[in-house]
Amino acid sequence: MQTTIFRNAAILDPVEGRLVPDQTVVVEGDRIIDIGSSQPTPGRSARLIDLAGMTLMPGLIDCHTHPAVVDMDVTGMAEWSPAYVAARAARALSGMLQRGFTTIRDVGGGDLGLARAVDEGYFPGPRIFYGGKQLTQTGGAGDWRSPSRQVYDTSYYAPAIGVICDGVSEVRRAVREEVRRGAHHIKAYLSGAVDSPSDRVDSTQFSLEELRAMVEEATAANIYVAGHAYTSRAINRGLECGVRTIEHGNLMDESSIPLFHQYQAFYVPTIVTYHALARAGQQGHLHGHVGAKLLDVLDHATGALELAHRSGLRIAYGTDLFADLHDRQLEEFVLRSEVQPADAIIRSATTVGAELLGMTGKLGTVSAGAYADLLVIDGDPLADIRTLTTPETNLKLIMKQGLIFKNDL
Ligand code: ZN
Repeated sequence: MQTTIFRNAAILDPVEGRLVPDQTVVVEGDRIIDIGSSQPTPGRSARLIDLAGMTLMPGLIDCHTHPAVVDMDVTGMAEWSPAYVAARAARALSGMLQRGFTTIRDVGGGDLGLARAVDEGYFPGPRIFYGGKQLTQTGGAGDWRSPSRQVYDTSYYAPAIGVICDGVSEVRRAVREEVRRGAHHIKAYLSGAVDSPSDRVDSTQFSLEELRAMVEEATAANIYVAGHAYTSRAINRGLECGVRTIEHGNLMDESSIPLFHQYQAFYVPTIVTYHALARAGQQGHLHGHVGAKLLDVLDHATGALELAHRSGLRIAYGTDLFADLHDRQLEEFVLRSEVQPADAIIRSATTVGAELLGMTGKLGTVSAGAYADLLVIDGDPLADIRTLTTPETNLKLIMKQGLIFKNDL
């Protein structure tokens, strides 16, 4: 088993929001086995890495990604070869890892095959917590048919990112299908979306009985439901039915706050995607129906984050980028810094993300027993969050599960 010893490290502690200087970190295999201020005598085969002047921090966690959504035209992509989609997803995953994301949650499109390919080393990428296909009602946000199309290819391995289910029994079957394929969570559309062809952003989707059935099935499998929702009307009925994470939430108001607390739910804003879509729209890359809906949510994204931060919600880092927009994945740090201090944003992308994934102490932390997911930063992200956004110059080393994927030291 390979041993790596990092010496003279200033370790970033997200919980305390401070750097702990002059630490030695010992990695053996895929785990951190020891941390301290003493200098262990290295074995002959140990790899020694001196980090004087550098910051050592946990690998980043993005809790809202779609690496398998490889094209802006999701409807067209659904008719591509899954092998071709996987090859393009591999490039997206490699990019994420090179930005410092060692773990992602995939909330639509990714599946066991993609996660396994990364896990077994066929693609370099972050470890993937996947949910399989997103559950949507007919005409809901994951129903990508144009209004003039009737037929929907229901074969699971067509690379469509949604599964259409109506009524309690179809919802139960859809959840059980994802559970059968090893899903870590179930993703469902609780409201309309920006990029879907036939619904309104302010609609609510799925009946209460369907939502309760979905949560019941997920809970039976010891997983949870992640709900896409924009307005408090959609958020609140989701939370009351037991949905554990709310994605986007741009149009949220004060009425949702007590429910987040009561149900111990997580909030996953994804501000950067609206900015990226707006830019794509200016360049003529969006369908007409997207542009109009985008305006509804773009302006409110930062306000919702400010409300959530002020109210003490558990906020995870999410980006919701796809196709060629993934290179903006780190810009979310800058956008959030308009309303949140650096330590809070870093917690979102480390400890809170780990908590959301049920991996507290194993991910998002530099501590003994955790996976050796480590980044070496030239600079102090607590003092300047932008040091995380220029990986080509500031991110000197990337280790995931004890393996080094970049070393510019
Ligand atoms: Zn999404």
